[in-house]
Amino acid sequence: MGMEERGDYEHIVVGSGPGGAAVARELALRGRKVLIVEYGPRLDKTGFLRTARKAYLGRDKRPLCSDGGVWISRARVLGGSSYVAMGNAVPPPARVLREWGVDLRGEIAEVQEDMHVTLMPAERVGPGTRRINEAASRLGWEMKPTPKCVDFSRCRGCGLCMFGCPTGAKWTSLRYIDEAIEHGAELLLNTEVRRVLHANGKAVGVAARGNGREWQIRSERIVLSAGALATPLILKRSGIENAGKGLANDVFQTTYGMTDDLGMQGEIILATYLEATIEGRELFPAPYMYIPFLIQRDREGGYPKNATLLAQARMMLRSQGIDARHIIAMMTKIRDERTGEVRGDGSVHKVLTEKDRAKLEEAYQINREILITAGARPETIFRSVYESGHPCCTAALGEVVDHHQQSEIHGLYVSDASVFPSPLGLPPILTIAALSKRLARHLLGA
Ligand SMILES: Cc1cc2nc3c(=O)[nH]c(=O)nc-3n(C[C@H](O)[C@H](O)[C@H](O)COP(=O)(O)OP(=O)(O)OC[C@H]3O[C@@H](n4cnc5c(N)ncnc54)[C@H](O)[C@@H]3O)c2cc1C
Ligand code: SF4
Repeated sequence: MGMEERGDYEHIVVGSGPGGAAVARELALRGRKVLIVEYGPRLDKTGFLRTARKAYLGRDKRPLCSDGGVWISRARVLGGSSYVAMGNAVPPPARVLREWGVDLRGEIAEVQEDMHVTLMPAERVGPGTRRINEAASRLGWEMKPTPKCVDFSRCRGCGLCMFGCPTGAKWTSLRYIDEAIEHGAELLLNTEVRRVLHANGKAVGVAARGNGREWQIRSERIVLSAGALATPLILKRSGIENAGKGLANDVFQTTYGMTDDLGMQGEIILATYLEATIEGRELFPAPYMYIPFLIQRDREGGYPKNATLLAQARMMLRSQGIDARHIIAMMTKIRDERTGEVRGDGSVHKVLTEKDRAKLEEAYQINREILITAGARPETIFRSVYESGHPCCTAALGEVVDHHQQSEIHGLYVSDASVFPSPLGLPPILTIAALSKRLARHLLGA
């Protein structure tokens, strides 16, 4: 592989998820010379079969599961996991921000405006979700409409947000990236940053590889936004050993049940949520339903060995007497404990604690009761594997980076979910982008 030098940039931003995209855009809008380096490609196709492998598996082509049996989803493509996000744009609880000692009110309001956040319109809530909402209400629980970063005039309600959006109705961080590019930012795709180059305690650039080449790219300001699973690996390779500890994931589990008359396939999921359980119980329950392939995984406890086609999943479900068209389901994310770790080889240690298990059990009981009240037959209720899609806290403020998100290497900053001092227990994109706006302000002023 040939070595190429590239530079000089005022800032290099590593990763294009909500964290990287928000900081790159702010810097580019104010005329700074920015290079964005992204591991993955730009996807222009959407849908399960076209997106799932490319977005979720990355170049190593393997799903990620922790040693404690928690499946971890993330997308390594332009836009990061926002490409596959469900369009939920939930603000962080004020209590958590107080805990963090960070005032993000201004930045959150700006992000909400950028993303055109709106409440899920009542008339777009599907029949399965409506049935669950009514059942919850009979039990004294009020389901609230979810704030969404979706332009509902363009949304065709296909429920495929998890595999990209065919109409562009859903906000993803590609919007910020494209704006940054319009204002002069450069983008290097399919390129993996391996480590940060530094001399005398100061950042001087990054070493990267991709497109058949090795790169050394010069800059004295580096912002790592590779996500909470990859940022700590780059930090470790750059000599910052304590990165990667204290991982939390907002672990979740789905409870399914079969009805005689209706299901949720093809409707917008996570359209409503149970707000009352967030504050005291740290639970985020919401109506949620998977495609058959994933239901098959949840029945069998892992990915099916030879199931490469959706048809196989449907056949297996039919053989077990399961009709995916008559399944209703709810998931609950929990605010889990910071006991995980991203190891130097990229594997993940995450074993649920007793407290995590108790929260998931409480969530299961609530979901079960609501589903049965909504018409699910009690003997058909089953639960999914443990899952997560919100890794965070692996380079936390006050631990690996300072209040201004700078590491012990001068000029090396982190801006993604890694810097959370504790998990939110609910969708984090707004908060990640807000932290990046805050960092950009600091960099522009400094
Ligand atoms: C299926 C799913 C649904 C979700 N739905 C929602 C939702 O509705 N609302 C919400 O708020 N949150 C949602 N989330 C969570 C949210 O998407 C993530 O928390 C968020 O995208 C994390 O942002 P980030 O900037 O920290 O990192 P990421 O989004 O992970 O971005 C990191 C980027 O860095 C790149 N990268 C990694 N390593 C390197 C490297 N070495 N060199 C260069 N580039 C690198 C990656 O390819 C990626 O593009 C969802 C997550 C998943 C998986
Ligand atoms: S439900 Fe709407 S926002 Fe989601 S993928 Fe379909 S069109 Fe896009």
